[in-house]
This record gives sequence, structure tokens and C-alpha cells, in this order.
Amino acid sequence: MKIMKFGGTSVGTPQRMNQVLGLITADNVTAKIIVLSALSGTTNALINISNAIAEGYRDEAKSQINDLENNYRRFISDLVKTDTYRTKANAIVTEHFEFLNIILKISFSEALNKDILAQGELLSTKLFCIFLEQKNVQHVLLPALEFMSIDGNGEPQIGSIKVKLSQLLQHHKNQQLFITQGYICRNAKGEVDNLKRGGSDYTASLIAAAVSATVCEIWTDISGMHNNDPRVVGKTIPVETLSFDEAAELAYFGAKILHPACIWPAQSYNIPVKLLNTMQPDAAGTTIQEIVTDVGAKAVAAKDGIIAIKIKSSRMLLAYGFLRKVFEVFEKYKTPIDMITTSEVAVSVTIDDSINLQQIIKELEPLGSVETDADQTIISIVGNEIAESPEILQKVFNSVNTIPIRMVSYGGSRHNISLLIPSGYKQKALQLINNGVFGLQ
Ligand code: ASP
Ligand code: MG
Repeated sequence: MKIMKFGGTSVGTPQRMNQVLGLITADNVTAKIIVLSALSGTTNALINISNAIAEGYRDEAKSQINDLENNYRRFISDLVKTDTYRTKANAIVTEHFEFLNIILKISFSEALNKDILAQGELLSTKLFCIFLEQKNVQHVLLPALEFMSIDGNGEPQIGSIKVKLSQLLQHHKNQQLFITQGYICRNAKGEVDNLKRGGSDYTASLIAAAVSATVCEIWTDISGMHNNDPRVVGKTIPVETLSFDEAAELAYFGAKILHPACIWPAQSYNIPVKLLNTMQPDAAGTTIQEIVTDVGAKAVAAKDGIIAIKIKSSRMLLAYGFLRKVFEVFEKYKTPIDMITTSEVAVSVTIDDSINLQQIIKELEPLGSVETDADQTIISIVGNEIAESPEILQKVFNSVNTIPIRMVSYGGSRHNISLLIPSGYKQKALQLINNGVFGLQ
């Protein structure tokens, strides 16, 4: 079994859906589960609609719903050419937009918000199935809401996903092509929920783990992971292979191509992940797998919106238990720490979630003096065994010697060197690293 996930831009126009059709039917030997995102722009539009309803701007929401519906009507008039299928496609659009219009009339809740956000993937998969029907391609739609679930902490329930999905597949033993929704799932209360923005990648990798797939292909609009951010620096090159650990660090520290959580299911079940380009299907892309032998710096990623917090206490001198008390505050507010450095009397940590910042500071203050710096960026240089190579370390620091560095994290893992810098220096730092570490302009 092979998993192929297509992102919003890969299904965003009728022409692109046609390309996807070519890719999924290129061989009809392997059974496949196709995971689709919402058409590009839809989830953003649904978020705006939901926000407008939440704030009581129902007229505004109504006009956004109408605009989105018009886009879909235009989309299907290009996608399907015969009356029979056009009627079917129109009925699907009508059903989902009627639902949105009903929501307009009832009182808003978080559960309804999730229902609104789910419409994008429901629409894209159903319309794609109509398109397949029209092309006479045999397929089965597997409703993600019947097998994809998260527990009370928002964590996917891999055991139950496995059981439910294999039961569904058992019902269609002789079928080769399955279509399902990315992103959406049910939560512990049985309500419709989602795997957070960009979560279709996560869906694909959870399914790959659940069915022990041979490969999990993530099809986007760029040829694999690049060594640097192509939107920020002049020249970048695709990275051919990455280990799961390297890919996880790059995804977590800002490489937008992949949802950071999508690595662990593939890694736990040792399923290679391929990042491929729908627009250039012959490009090698990036393969992420357990073992990689090439050593050296492979890529740099940047993550913005970071806040550095320093807690300084002379009582920390020779004291034990101090770090535990500090960490407990972050744990209490469910706020993950990214980087950490310590000296004998102070500890600095970084967070990217500022929702509970004021309470965190208040609870840290009894432990020592607390200073915060907002608008910071983590620059993370990733590669196999780079943290064991004095030469790479030297290149990194030589290249950024004109950048003010607030924190350095080195030695935490064998494949990562992270620097914290003020965000205003990000572009310059990425460019300098591109020249000095990767020898690119
Ligand atoms: N449609 C969702 C989003 O835009 C999920 C995804 O595309 O992966 O975030
Ligand atoms: Mg994505």
C-alpha cells in the first residue's frame, strides 16, 4: 500500500486535479490511499467566515460564504463537462454551503468552528471523486471522520485508527484506489475536529503508519526540501536525502514544506517519506528515511515569533531543583520550550506560544529576576553529525560574525546547531549562512 498526499495547490484548479489524476493512475498495480487537502485558499476563507460569525458579523460572514460558493460553482463548471456529473457536483456544493448557511443562524461554539473548518476537505475529496467517476476511474471514498481520531490531549489514537481503517479496507478488498480527507478527525467527545493547520501531512503519515505502507508521498508545489528558504535567499538547492531526525528538526524549526508532527508516525513504523512536486513529477525531491550516510550541513531553517525568557537567580548557584521549578511553570501552562541554555546563575529558554506569557512571568518571578525579549528568530542548521564537526562549527560562526546572537544551542543533538537572533537580522543571517556554509549565493 502506498500513501499519496496532495496539498491545496496540487488540487487548487481543475487542471491540477487532472495532473493529480495522471499521478495516481500512473501505475494500477499498487493499492493507494490518496489524502487530499482543501483547495488552496479554502481553509483560510473558512477561518475568516468562522471568525466573522464568532464576532457577530453575520452579514460579513454571509457575503464571504457567497463568495466562496461562487468560486466552487466556477471550479466545477471547469472540472466536470457533462450534465449528469455537473448536477452531482452542484448537489455536493449545495449541500455544504447550505450547511454553512444554517450555521449562520445558530449560536456559535468551538464545536461549530471545527465543523466549519472541516468543509474544505469534505468538498475537495467529494468533488475529486465526481471527477474520477466522470473519468471512469474506479475508487472508494473513505470518510476520515470514520477512522481518524484524537484523544483528550489532541494526540492521534494510532491503535484505534489502525483497527478502524483496516476494517474499512476489509470491506473493499478488491479495490486499489482510496480517497480520503486530510486534516479532519474526531476528538475524544466524538465531535468533528482537526489536526491543526497543515495537518493533512500528519493524516498521511498516520495512515501510512496504520497500514504499514511502503512509502508516504507528500506532493506539493516545490521539488522537495531546500537547503534554505527560497523566499528569502538568492539560490537554494533541493536536499536529496534526510534522516527522520534531521527532517523533524527542519520541519519544527520553520521549513514550511512539512507539518512537524508528521515525522513521528513514519519514523516509528519506519516508512520512508518522499517530498515530491506535482508540477514537476520527475524531479528527485527529498527522501526522508531512517538511515542516511552522508555527513555535513544539509539545510538551514528559520522560525520567527520566538520569545526568549531569562531567569536569573543567585540562589541557583550550586542549587539543585531550580531547573525543575522553572520547567514546572512551563508545564503548568502547556507551553513547550524550544531552546535552552544555562549558566551557573541563569537559565534562558525560548517559547513560541505567548498566550500564557503574563502568567508564566508572574510565576517565574519568585524564582529570580525575569527578562523577556520578543521578536526573536531561531536559525537552525541541520545535518548528519554536524554537531561533531569542528569545521562546520567554525564555518557557521565565521559566517554570522556580524550578527548579534542572543543564544546558542549546540550539542543537544548530533544534527543541529541553533542560534537565536533578533528577527530583524534573519534575512541577513540566512544569506550569510547560504554563502559561508553551503557555498551558494
Ligand atoms: N486545509 C488545511 C490547512 O490549510 C490542512 C492542510 O492543508 O494540510 O491548514
Ligand atoms: Mg501543507
